[in-house]
Amino acid sequence: MRIQVFRSFRTSMRLLAKKDYYSILGVPRSATESEIKKAYFNLAKQYHPDVNKSPDAKTKFAEINNAYETIGDPQKRQTYDSTGMTGDEQDQAKQAGFGDFGGFGGFNPFGGGFGGGSPFGGGGEGFSSFEDIFGEFEGIFGGKKTKKNLRGEDISVSMEISFLEAVQGAAKQFTISKNNTCGTCKGKKIKPGSSPTTCTTCGGRGHVHYQRGPMSIQVGCQKCGGSGTIIKDYCPTCRGSGIGATKVTETVNIPPGVNTGHTLRMAHKGHASENSGTPGDILIKVTVKEHPTFQRDGYDIISQVPITISQAALGATVEVETLQGKVQVKVSPGTNTGDTHRISNFGITHLPPHSSQKGSHIVKFVLSIPKKLSESQRKLFEMLAKEGA
Ligand SMILES: [Zn+2]
Ligand SMILES: [Zn+2]
Repeated sequence: MRIQVFRSFRTSMRLLAKKDYYSILGVPRSATESEIKKAYFNLAKQYHPDVNKSPDAKTKFAEINNAYETIGDPQKRQTYDSTGMTGDEQDQAKQAGFGDFGGFGGFNPFGGGFGGGSPFGGGGEGFSSFEDIFGEFEGIFGGKKTKKNLRGEDISVSMEISFLEAVQGAAKQFTISKNNTCGTCKGKKIKPGSSPTTCTTCGGRGHVHYQRGPMSIQVGCQKCGGSGTIIKDYCPTCRGSGIGATKVTETVNIPPGVNTGHTLRMAHKGHASENSGTPGDILIKVTVKEHPTFQRDGYDIISQVPITISQAALGATVEVETLQGKVQVKVSPGTNTGDTHRISNFGITHLPPHSSQKGSHIVKFVLSIPKKLSESQRKLFEMLAKEGA
């Protein structure tokens, strides 16, 4: 397929005085292809009108793009070096029947053909607007254009809770700094009282058509980013981002059964989206403090219960502290250290959706040998010893 895509800012470009493209990109005439590309991306980042709010950023940005369209393309660069013809002029010459039509490779900022990796790396975090600019290619060939950064960012929170909060559940408050819709402009990005003007490039339609022989190509308007309007006076509070940081106190309902390492998700409570999409989530990473007597094993509680020698030998009933209060537990005659007794359903409530289930409380008996004996105790033990017990 041979299609040449014209970019909207070329129109305005033509009015600019001709400058040397090498000096615009700040590279020597001997610069390699990759040096030119690198210089271009650095400048494009610096002067992108969404990032750079200085009044001449837009012009400078267009100038940089224009220079790169010509000398970033080896063929056009060669012609430019020898004739001084800009990329536009070369294209027009070709259209008029001079030479070969450049084909798609004529201008491709991604290098190495279609679908090459984004120069801004990894999904374009923070630079979604660059994708908008370069995304026209996707728009033509990929059918529907997808915006990756519509969703707001997630907020990660670390939270330490007590053992009992974890097993019984709790409502915990925490404060975060959150990017919300800007209070001054209500997310509209424009200075209150002023109104956006209709984009002259696309006439407010948000897209432009190019006729190439029998083909009509619809391309998203770069000047207005497809919105059809141009904002001249940006909101002074958020400087045109539409979002502002605020301290927010949130309450998370910790379900019973949570354990160290679990992450709770509060859907849509994260940062607002810059592109009026869904907010991100809050992710709460939980750490549970230890308890002085209860240990946890899955959904079971384990506690050590001391018993005397006579209780162990003769059997007895002892009182055991559980999550649900004190429970009488039978000690069988002949119990030894390490012997256990399971109290079913006195353990930890399972996490949703199994909240109706509970673990067990497991009593671990520990023989408590007296450190000091009274006179009568000593006599009794001596008698036991004679009996071989
Ligand atoms: Zn437009
Ligand atoms: Zn604002």
